[in-house]
This record gives sequence, structure tokens and C-alpha cells, in this order.
Amino acid sequence: MSLLDVDGLVKDFGGLRALDDLSVSVDRGELVGVMGPNGAGKSTFFNCVSGVVAPDAGTVRFDGEDVTGDAPESLAKTGLVRTFQRTRELETMTVRDNVRLAAPDQRGERALPALLRTSGMREEEQAVRDRADELIEAFELDHLKDEYSGALSGGQRKLLELARVLMLDPEVLLLDEPFAGVNPTLTNEIAGRIADLNDEGMTVVIIEHELETLTELVDRLVVLEQGSLLVEGEPAAVLADERVIEAYLGE
Ligand code: ADP
Ligand code: MG
Repeated sequence: MSLLDVDGLVKDFGGLRALDDLSVSVDRGELVGVMGPNGAGKSTFFNCVSGVVAPDAGTVRFDGEDVTGDAPESLAKTGLVRTFQRTRELETMTVRDNVRLAAPDQRGERALPALLRTSGMREEEQAVRDRADELIEAFELDHLKDEYSGALSGGQRKLLELARVLMLDPEVLLLDEPFAGVNPTLTNEIAGRIADLNDEGMTVVIIEHELETLTELVDRLVVLEQGSLLVEGEPAAVLADERVIEAYLGE
């Protein structure tokens, strides 16, 4: 059984059909790329899967459970986590605080004065701090940890975004254009981190417009066109497919 099973998704925006009977499955441990021309429905696909928008028809199954229309926070708790095409860090907060605050705050304990917190709460807080520091170091943001996030470059923001979502300990990570606006050096760096996470067992689905990096990175490519699945398969075969070449010619 697939870890993520999307079946017959339809999403309309007014008169526009953004997703048109889209079915995609992802197995546990896979690293899958999603490509397609601008407006093909890639982000809407992620939005429906991650609960950001509710599909008009179709189902999303995660680990055997029907999670169609579940809220993003509840999906994140069960291990399905996504990033956005535009990063969502808080610019007037430091890098370190951005990463720490991404941790799920189960009891609202941050609101309690220190003296009222139980030792269990303090231990949990320390674990969050340690994990945040670990990720900041792993993503080579250590020298920037006290900077305001607003001062980071586009590529550094993408690294910060990855560190933030990893605080949620995802089982499946959906990445929307992680290389957009990132220079070639940082692109390689981010691609390497994604490959490492996948090697460690994380299932990853990546939307990307920049095909070269994507093709080298993934096991399988899924191509969307006008809200439907056009072609899927092994990257080299997909890129050589005439239907894919034609879909991109209009770009
Ligand atoms: P992609 O990510 O492949 O570029 P999107 O999923 O963002 O494509 O968009 C697919 C289509 O749906 C586009 O025509 C886009 O304009 C439209 N669309 C996406 N989100 C909305 C929205 N919230 N309201 C109206 N139209 C939308
Ligand atoms: Mg998009």
C-alpha cells in the first residue's frame, strides 16, 4: 500500500479547473519530483494534499487513513508536512527563534511563567532548543542564528524553511520549489540535504521548475498538465517523452 494515495482530485476556482481528476501515489521512502508548466496545478495539488485548500472531489489517503480536507496542523501532527513556494519565516524574528517556534506547541506552555512550569515542560523546552540548534548547525546557518530572518538571502531562507519543517519531524515532506531563486552553490547544498533526508528514510515529494537539479535528484518524475497527470516514470524516460516536450514548448 502506498504511503500517500491521491485519487481523483478535482479543484475548481470559479470557472477554472485547476485539478482535473488527478491521481498520484507515493510509496514509503520514495523521492518523487512533480513538474509541469506554469499553472499546471502543482501548487494546488500540494494545497489539497496538505489541507490548505479543500478539494471539490477526490480523496487523499495518508498511511491508509482518509485525510481528505483535514487541517494542515492536524496533518503535520500525523507526519505530513509541506513547505510553500514563498517561504513563511517571520522576518523580524531571529533565525534561531524562527526554527524554535516551528516546533509543535502541544500544551501552550510558553504562556506560563517559568516558576509554574513543571520539570517535564522544562525538559521538553530544552529538547526543542537542542533540536533547533542541531538543525541550524546541520543547515550551516550557525553564523546567522542571531540575525533577523529578513536579512537572509533567498537561498538562506530556503535552508531556514527546511530547518523549520524538520522541527515537525515529518514522515512525508512536500517541498514546493525549494530551489527557486537560489544560487547554484546553495541549490547543490539544498539538493544534497534533501537526498540525505531521503537516504535516512524520509519520503519526499518535490515540485520544481528547474528541471536539471530535479531530474538528477529524484527516483521518479510526475508531470502535470492542465490539472491532470500527463506522464510519470523514470526521469530520463519522462524527459524524452514527446508529450512532455510538447507541454513545455509553449512555455
Ligand atoms: P502551478 O503551481 O503548477 O504553477 P497552481 O496550482 O498555482 O499552478 O495554479 C493552477 C491554476 O489554478 C492556475 O491557473 C492558477 O491561476 C489557479 N489558481 C491557483 N490557486 C488559485 C486561487 N487561490 N484562486 C484562484 N485561482 C487559483
Ligand atoms: Mg506553483
